[in-house]
Amino acid sequence: MPASPAFLERLARVVPDLARGYGTPFHVYDAAGILASHRAVVSAFGDWPARQHFAVKALPNPAVLKLLAEAGSGLDCSSPAELLLADAAGVTGRDIVFTSNNTTRAEYEMALARGCLVTFDDVAHMDRAQRLPGTVAFRVAPHTGGASSALMGAAGASKFGVPRGRLAEAYARARARGARSFGIHGMTCANELDLARALQAARDLVATALEVEREAGITFDYVNVGGGLGIPYRPGEAPFDLAGWAAGLVGLLREAFGGRQVRLVTELGRIVTGPHGVLVTTVVNRLDKGRAIVGLDASMSALMRPGFYENAWHHVTLPFAGKERPRVLADVVGSLCENVDRFAVAREMPDTREGEIVYIHDTGAHGAAMGFTYNGRLRPAELLLMPADGVLEIRRAETFSDYVATVVEGGRPLEFTRHAAE
Ligand SMILES: *Cc1c(COP(=O)(O)O)cnc(C)c1O
Repeated sequence: MPASPAFLERLARVVPDLARGYGTPFHVYDAAGILASHRAVVSAFGDWPARQHFAVKALPNPAVLKLLAEAGSGLDCSSPAELLLADAAGVTGRDIVFTSNNTTRAEYEMALARGCLVTFDDVAHMDRAQRLPGTVAFRVAPHTGGASSALMGAAGASKFGVPRGRLAEAYARARARGARSFGIHGMTCANELDLARALQAARDLVATALEVEREAGITFDYVNVGGGLGIPYRPGEAPFDLAGWAAGLVGLLREAFGGRQVRLVTELGRIVTGPHGVLVTTVVNRLDKGRAIVGLDASMSALMRPGFYENAWHHVTLPFAGKERPRVLADVVGSLCENVDRFAVAREMPDTREGEIVYIHDTGAHGAAMGFTYNGRLRPAELLLMPADGVLEIRRAETFSDYVATVVEGGRPLEFTRHAAE
């Protein structure tokens, strides 16, 4: 879906000057929109005890994490670096959920030392932990139809979580080690736009939680439904029915656990920041190769999704082209020596001219975060459009010195390799 009219209008006021004076490409995020989406999540749950922890991996910029933390959001971390980002944003303890996979003992120790709400991805991880977190939670491996999708892979073939058949024993082991407080985690969907499917996946998780309570003789303090709510990338798609989902979840919990108000935890990323980012680029080439080729000054190193996921789609617009342009079928491409480096393929759009600004929409989640430097195409800057219209630079563009910052000039002989050879 195109960025919101309010965001586009405010962008239009600053982008021409930014393009001239600062240069493109850059990702720009709308602080007001991000805060509004966070508040929409929080208010959807009404009085039910619920906590939203923003999934850091979606947009790991400290300024954005701080903005969300100040608005009351918790954070969801999955790696040591993300825990350090949470430290920098002043978020710690149970304001962090640590939901990781293929995790080392040292990584869990880092999360345990901070008092995070830890989700163990496997029983072996708990067995290796010298001390248990205050509340022990396991991630449930996807095992029902509701949880399968193109992004997550088929239920049953997933690398994530504890298989359904081993859950009760996992919790019984935790109880035997003294645990008295329990949570359960299920990443129930991925980029899901369909309310019925999202609720079915949550229903499967709640049913599993109820069965595991009986089998293991425990009670859950919280159910963590993870993230995975979708945003409408394509024009014409409807936004996800957040209010309907929240009401449905609360209904499910009420029905399943009777009078007990089991806390709800969410780790939403995409739906909070996704629609509030735009990649602002300039056309550097308008070629004709039997079809129109629009070459931008940004590459998939700035936005990997279209090349990485088969069905990923991002809206492309020419904000300053006016209405008179003929429409063409165009491939919108970057400069990597990879044919998948295309933001759009055979897209019907207004024809472009060299030097013109192009927006790639919905880059606020899993956009800059998935950036890389292949082919020496360095990562662009990130800017934050503030509610009062000021623009903050929150990450500068990478330079050649960043690109070679980890190079060891001339090579440094490593002691241990000599010993090993002796
Ligand atoms: C990726 C991820 C999220 C966030 O997903 P979104 O699609 O951005 O909402 C939350 N929890 C876990 C465990 C994840 O892997």
